[in-house]
Amino acid sequence: MAKDKNFSAETLLAHGGEAPEPTTGAVVPPLHFSTTFARNAQYELMGEYIYGRYQNPTFDPVEKLAATLDKGAEAKLFASGMAGITAIFETVNAGEHIVAPTVMYHGAQDWLRYISRKRNIDLTLFDASDPEGLEKALRPGKTVIVWIESPVNPTWDVIDIAASAEAAHNAGAILAVDATVSTPITTQPISLGADLVFHSATKYLNGHSDVTAGIVVTREKNERWEEIKMIRKYVGGIQGPFEAWLLLRGMRTLSLRFERASENALKLARHFENHPKIEKVLYPGLESHPGHHIAKKQMTNGFGGMMSLLVKGDAAYAQQVATRATVFTPATSLGGVESLIEHRASVEGPHSVVPKNLIRLSVGIEDVQDLITDLEQALS
Ligand SMILES: *Cc1c(COP(=O)(O)O)cnc(C)c1O
Repeated sequence: MAKDKNFSAETLLAHGGEAPEPTTGAVVPPLHFSTTFARNAQYELMGEYIYGRYQNPTFDPVEKLAATLDKGAEAKLFASGMAGITAIFETVNAGEHIVAPTVMYHGAQDWLRYISRKRNIDLTLFDASDPEGLEKALRPGKTVIVWIESPVNPTWDVIDIAASAEAAHNAGAILAVDATVSTPITTQPISLGADLVFHSATKYLNGHSDVTAGIVVTREKNERWEEIKMIRKYVGGIQGPFEAWLLLRGMRTLSLRFERASENALKLARHFENHPKIEKVLYPGLESHPGHHIAKKQMTNGFGGMMSLLVKGDAAYAQQVATRATVFTPATSLGGVESLIEHRASVEGPHSVVPKNLIRLSVGIEDVQDLITDLEQALS
């Protein structure tokens, strides 16, 4: 039964996209493990599949749902977020220029530094808190990809997606947005002018801390998109079918999980905003946050569950707070149903520009009073 693409995200997600499956009526789509697909008497393929590294039918509902939610032309699933990110940057030629923010997901930035060292690709990191930062970093005619993330991990500064798209396009570049934290429930970067949208589906889309996955969505099917698909096929960063199936199962509750995490996070942020043990709460949902006015414009259905606390104290105190928590689990990652806490500078290592007194919280869907009580005891 084809679903109307104009249904709201909540409806599409709850139905897992295109259920029921047309040949059997299965309400939950089947899981295909086959790595190879047969031909008929005329030696033609029986369906549209050839070989498991190219495409597996279990990927289809996930990819279609992701493309619909992000209002893109097509989406592709990868074995991890980084497999998707590296596929995007594999399309950049020697001599071309990439622009990205100074504060961003550290793994992606480490990769950008690596390819710029190894392959004669120029990289400029810009200060996202400077309104002219991006403009100054662009080299018209040479810049090919502007990469942004919003809100930025782990300070949760907000980057104006529409303004970035305009600046990138004026310089002849495309805009790619890491929207891992602002899921399609609240932000659709393509509608704001982005050309590519990336999600680490390991996080909110799957939501249960039990699958690594990445999704890249394109505004249009063009040469770079064909190249990204070719790279997935030949580099082989392909998702396992069971993980793809689990991901779709996780996505069915995304809207509820994201709504609850956003509610809990806002309550926590308000509670700790003027707290004696806290120097500052970094959360785009707070009116006091410098990016709040842009966040309100481009996060239209919740500010998400990600926030950071600058504690009054040094790195050792910040680490202690993280390890004393009992409802929050001291672990990296984000977007799961359970709340996580981490001392970010320790996790990021030598290149980290993150303040040493910063604690990052991924707020889950637990009872908010339990979360508040836990942090209170961990801080004291
Ligand atoms: C986790 C994460 C990534 C990388 O994704 P993996 O699934 O871990 O490979 C990229 N960007 C952001 C914002 C992330 O949180």
